[in-house]
Amino acid sequence: MLGEFGPQDGRVLAGGQSLVPIMAFRMARPAHLVDINGVAELARHSRDGGTLSIGAVVRHAAFHRPLVDTELGRMLSTVVRHIAHYPIRTRGTFCGSIAHADPASEWCLVAATLGAEMVARSKRGQRVIAAEHFFEGLMTTALAEDELLTEVRLPILPSQTRFGFEEFNRRAGDFAIAMALVTYRVDRGVIVEPRVGIGGAEARPRRIAEAEAALQGRPPALEAFQAAAAVAADVIDPIEDIQSDAEYRRDLVRTVTRRALERAAA
Ligand SMILES: Cc1cc2nc3c(=O)[nH]c(=O)nc-3n(C[C@H](O)[C@H](O)[C@H](O)COP(=O)(O)OP(=O)(O)OC[C@H]3O[C@@H](n4cnc5c(N)ncnc54)[C@H](O)[C@@H]3O)c2cc1C
Repeated sequence: MLGEFGPQDGRVLAGGQSLVPIMAFRMARPAHLVDINGVAELARHSRDGGTLSIGAVVRHAAFHRPLVDTELGRMLSTVVRHIAHYPIRTRGTFCGSIAHADPASEWCLVAATLGAEMVARSKRGQRVIAAEHFFEGLMTTALAEDELLTEVRLPILPSQTRFGFEEFNRRAGDFAIAMALVTYRVDRGVIVEPRVGIGGAEARPRRIAEAEAALQGRPPALEAFQAAAAVAADVIDPIEDIQSDAEYRRDLVRTVTRRALERAAA
């Protein structure tokens, strides 16, 4: 159906928690909706070796308890509590968030930081898109109008991986003004394989290579955390909106990055 109606201004309807409000505001008036909620095989998640696959109709609420008994499972169940409110989490889907690509989406930050793979299917076939090529800008992705995001694959993190997540918003349940997700391992007293992801502050979530370089090989302590946080604040290109100007977001990035790194060390 998406092959037929997608090119005729059709849209996928998943949890409807972004699309329906946008339609209510008349900011979108799709000519057709293709409802995927009844497709049972899309409501599944599975672990295959080093990967967690999340189907298109897996709801946010599925992550309240760890889906896998690993650091990744614990990370996802920490992060999910920052997404909207409970009733929204019972309808909204992980893949819907990824397809919607709001810069302040927590799942988009997870996908960008961990290097997720997005599986897109259409009548033309299937392709796998790396996170760095998937998020193209503000609510813009590499998905074509006739493509369904059938699943997202996240890497099961190596054991001993530490993670920290920190988000700033005005009220609980609001979208983030800035947030940071970090992971690293400690080997012989120093940080290895650091990942620093920033969301909410730029047009799309992304890893900040300069901040990761500031952590690599250094002891997991305040000095390195402050250095990495300062670099992250320096190199981002902040968006401005009614909630905050660029300088405020830069300041927030410094703070959320340091706090996320401290959480990972605790
Ligand atoms: C009050 C409120 C607060 C919120 N706060 C947050 C928050 O803090 N953080 C956050 O991340 N989100 C927040 N949301 C949004 C919520 O998380 C949505 O559930 C999510 O953004 C979209 O998922 P969905 O399944 O509801 O998608 P839908 O609303 O059904 O669809 C969203 C868009 O993605 C497309 N789409 C959906 N699934 C697919 C697919 N499988 N393949 C291709 N295209 C697809 C749709 O066509 C549509 O364009 C909030 C929503 C509300 C109403």
